[in-house]
This record gives sequence, C-alpha cells and structure tokens, in this order.
Amino acid sequence: MVGIFHIPESGSALSFPILYSGVTENVKRTETGRKLKMIRNIVHDPLFLARKSGPAAMEDLRIAADLKETLAANRERCVGIAANMIGELKNIIAVFNGPILMVMINPRITGKSGEYTAEEGCLSLSGIRQTKRWKEITVSYQDEFFRPHTERFSGFTAQIIQHECDHCKGILI
Ligand SMILES: [Zn+2]
Repeated sequence: MVGIFHIPESGSALSFPILYSGVTENVKRTETGRKLKMIRNIVHDPLFLARKSGPAAMEDLRIAADLKETLAANRERCVGIAANMIGELKNIIAVFNGPILMVMINPRITGKSGEYTAEEGCLSLSGIRQTKRWKEITVSYQDEFFRPHTERFSGFTAQIIQHECDHCKGILI
C-alpha cells in the first residue's frame, strides 16, 4: 500500500463521505468569543513530535473537539491525527473508522497479531516510509464521555490507530 495517509487529490476509494456533522454546523462560541471547536495548525517540528504525550483528563475534551475538527478539515489527505500534531501533548487521537470519525482518549494497544510491513505517509512529515504494523489489534480507550471501551480492530482502521498511538509515544514513521 502506497501513500495511504496521503490520499491522492484526484480522489480515491479512500475519500469516503463523512458522517461527522461538525463541518457544516453553525459555529458556536464561548463567552470569550473563542470558537468551541477550532481547526488547528499542523505541527511539523520533529523535535516536538518526538516528545511523549501524557494522560488526558476531562479538561482536555476541548483538545479532543479541536482534533476532530482538524481531522475533518484535512479528510481529503489524512485519515488519522494525534493531539501532538496540533501542539497538545495529550494522549488523544482521532481516526476514521470507515466513514465514522472516532475519538479515542488514552488509547492503549493491549493485543496484536499478524505482523506485516506497511508503507505510510504522515500529515506532519513528507514522503512515504516503511513501518511494521499488526493486522489485528485490541485497543482499550475512553470515548468523549470518558466511558471505557475495549475493542478489536483490523485492516486499515487498525493501521491508522497504530500510527496515531505511535505519535502519542513520540514515535514517527
Ligand atoms: Zn502521522
């Protein structure tokens, strides 16, 4: 697989319709005038991206909202994003699971099987690189209501989650 995180501009099977409603809804603002959800700039600094993220708590839900908004805005060329890519060193990722935009807070890969070599790109980096991935993974995480989940993922979704969990650990492809 080549360039799976860099979807060609001509469009491809990977540019699916989006179910996330945040893109079209009216922008709500806080009392201070800050938008409740913001599209954030993407960090490219390798030194910052090499830093490890820490546990996310309730007060970090604003970051999760921004992360969703930023991934939705970049959906033509990106299928997953980690909080450090928008400058926040918190263990939060957002991924497309098919057409569904999922947020995972404090994700942890607790099981894996079927190692293979993948070729990936990254919104924060240029070019395509080879990396080891697992075909099936089990992930424990919390959702946006801090409810705990343990779920199995396979194939492309599993690959995206592994890439973003690596970001949380400061690992780049
Ligand atoms: Zn990346």
